[in-house]
Amino acid sequence: SRRARAASMNQTAHINLNVDLGERSYPIAIGPGVLDDGAALLRHVGGAKAALVTNTTVAPLYLDKIAAPLRAAGREVVEIVLPDGEEYKHWGSLMAIFDALLASKCDRKTTLIALGGGVIGDLTGFAAASYMRGVPFVQVPTTLLAQVDSSVGGKTGINHPLGKNMIGAFYQPRAVLADTGTLGTLPARELSAGLAEVIKHGAILDAEFFDWIEANIARLVGRDQAALSHAIARSCEIKADVVRKDEREGGLRAVLNFGHTFGHAIEAGMGYGAWLHGEAVGCGMVMAADLSRRLGFIDAAAFERVRALVAAAGLPTVAPDLGVERWIELMEVDKKNEGGAIKFILVKPLGSPSIMSVPHELLLATLDACVQ
Ligand code: NAD
Ligand code: MG
Repeated sequence: SRRARAASMNQTAHINLNVDLGERSYPIAIGPGVLDDGAALLRHVGGAKAALVTNTTVAPLYLDKIAAPLRAAGREVVEIVLPDGEEYKHWGSLMAIFDALLASKCDRKTTLIALGGGVIGDLTGFAAASYMRGVPFVQVPTTLLAQVDSSVGGKTGINHPLGKNMIGAFYQPRAVLADTGTLGTLPARELSAGLAEVIKHGAILDAEFFDWIEANIARLVGRDQAALSHAIARSCEIKADVVRKDEREGGLRAVLNFGHTFGHAIEAGMGYGAWLHGEAVGCGMVMAADLSRRLGFIDAAAFERVRALVAAAGLPTVAPDLGVERWIELMEVDKKNEGGAIKFILVKPLGSPSIMSVPHELLLATLDACVQ
């Protein structure tokens, strides 16, 4: 029948992955229209109640798409709509979630559903980790960054006035549903910011994927659903593989910080929010590639490929002039936690990571070359 054909077509259009973490393993469904299949979500919502956490931007766009099939199946859906913004990834929002859960008599079987970007995912995940010492949790990421990065890996948490992501827990979701159709409403800057983390995954761990991103960057920027699905799937596989080997961030997971040492300095130096995280990481990857070239790990042509790809993704490639001393000081913030010299994630060659401290004069040369 037409219906059966449509259903099977839907299935072939979706990519299903499994994050292999023993008893904490979970599936990721990726593709256009993943949310149109109400049964897909229902499968992961066990109790009589679900609490749907989202924000004022995403609620009018996608809340009904999630809530309607759950209600149609007889589930009670508690809606928790928070204000939009990184500044709300704080204790107050966490309390607002707990207030709503308790007022609605949600119990240990209530599934928390995070519908939104990384802010909602991190907040909801942490609420799920701690409400009644842990309740089931499903991620419905609606930004590219959340679909390729924050929804995989189990890091959840909130910001503290004295530091970002300082309070949190490792807590894995039951499932991740990444509908590429939701990216249609995402602002272009946010799409580019997500592409930075996609490029990162290729640059440090998969040269072939880097080639693929290069060949398909126009389709990705143009929001081609098939291209986005592949980019998300490969990114999730790469990140999941790192997480599987180092779930609690013992060491290997540090390679995911390629571009982030420089990027964090840009974010902090410009004042948080001036540059999106992905924009700072994009520029940071160009700087890390420049440093890799100075060390002889990649040649000039490979450096230019990184720079051109970051530019083609709609990301900045010229770093802001913070002053050399401030630059070093901001990059040393990470180092303070570990002791010793600043450790950089470099490419050696493109597609493979190398973690090391570098001669000071090479770092100065990179700052000189990359800062406008
Ligand atoms: P975000 O959650 O703030 O979303 C960006 C903006 O897009 C917001 O205004 C949001 O309301 C809006 N939005 C979301 N989906 C939309 C859609 N489909 N259409 C239109 N607008 C939409 O930002 P983000 O980049 O998704 O996530 C950043 C957060 O993720 C940070 O707090 C960061 O610390 C965290 N993060 C966590 C991890 C992790 O491992 N847990 C990894 C990376 C980042
Ligand atoms: Mg990042």
